[in-house]
Amino acid sequence: MNPLAPIIGGAQLYSPAVPAVFDDDSSKLAVLSTQSSTQSFIKPAEPLTDSFSRQLTYLRLSITDFCNFRCEYCLPNGYQGKPPQNELSVTEIATLVSGFAQVGTKKVRITGGEPSIRRDVVDIIKVIKNTEGIETVAMTSNGYKLGKHLADWNSAGLNQINISMDSFDAGTFHKMTGFDMLPQLMTDMDKLLDTTDIELKINSILMAETAFENLMNAIEYVKDRPVTYRFIEFMQTSDNSDLFFAQYAQSDLITNYLIKHGWHAHDRGSADGPAIEYSHPDYIGRIGMIAPYATHFCDNCNRLRVSSQGKVHLCLFDDGNYDIRSYLQQNDIAGLINTLHSFMPIKPEHHHLHESNSGMMNNLSMIGG
Ligand code: SAM
Ligand code: SF4
Repeated sequence: MNPLAPIIGGAQLYSPAVPAVFDDDSSKLAVLSTQSSTQSFIKPAEPLTDSFSRQLTYLRLSITDFCNFRCEYCLPNGYQGKPPQNELSVTEIATLVSGFAQVGTKKVRITGGEPSIRRDVVDIIKVIKNTEGIETVAMTSNGYKLGKHLADWNSAGLNQINISMDSFDAGTFHKMTGFDMLPQLMTDMDKLLDTTDIELKINSILMAETAFENLMNAIEYVKDRPVTYRFIEFMQTSDNSDLFFAQYAQSDLITNYLIKHGWHAHDRGSADGPAIEYSHPDYIGRIGMIAPYATHFCDNCNRLRVSSQGKVHLCLFDDGNYDIRSYLQQNDIAGLINTLHSFMPIKPEHHHLHESNSGMMNNLSMIGG
């Protein structure tokens, strides 16, 4: 049976979409091209809902895969080669986000690589912020340029920022990232809290060696700060297997401690991400846990990802991606919308990390976690 059948027919007419190009898996390409070249007439304003009834309201947009850091779990040897020249332009991003907003996207996260490396990141924030239907603009960053650009990001309309900070110890931070800048980063984060309304979350990889010390420091850190400090379970990719087997630790290590010491888990709202957050009456901030290896982690997936080259990733760990750049280059929002709808039946139900299968994701800088 044609998996696209349920979404074809009975809908408003549009010119047939240019076939989406699937990079790695020809069987999926066949499905898409049959549909695209003949009868992809789909109602545009319909929200994106996949075949597991999950509404996709969250776009994670990588604006570069280049990164200046050398995080040992991500790019231990640093970015290889020159920064790419053919990243999505601000105009293409405007078309992209407008199309996504028309099919229900409410939140866009700018990520990378390191997004703050792009000189036009302020224009990108502005263009997303000014798109009708987008309620929240967020960014994930290593914080390298936080102090320098904070005021500009704030006035451009950035609502949320996640800063990656894997240790409270300057030496460990230096060792893990290749950059000796922890004191500056912490000063810049305090400046953000003091001078803006941007919501701050801190991301930290959960590793056996640093987990306990990080937890103790994080609890202290959030005592008087309105910040959520989140542990992310270490995800295995082809580039980090040795470190993964040496350092992987289960989320229970943290959550058991929190529960035992009076922290309470909050229910996740339908629009929330996969983090479970814990609060305590004596602490202003929260501790969060993102546990991709936990059962049911993918049940409420609400996201799609687009790479800095204009390729859609239906799951972070899918084995291929789909090229939608031609729609962006031609400002063809109707074609883009049709194609996004055509992806819905083939969005995977869940990842296959438990089988040590990270699909085409050799490391997370390729598209940003
Ligand atoms: N460069 C930015 C940064 O570091 O925040 C954005 C991109 S980075 C790939 C996004 C997030 O993915 C970071 O918080 C990083 O710690 C996390 N990350 C990278 N590799 C990971 C892995 N193997 N397992 C879990 N999280 C990972
Ligand atoms: Fe760069 Fe972020 Fe990867 Fe670190 S985690 S190497 S900062 S992309």
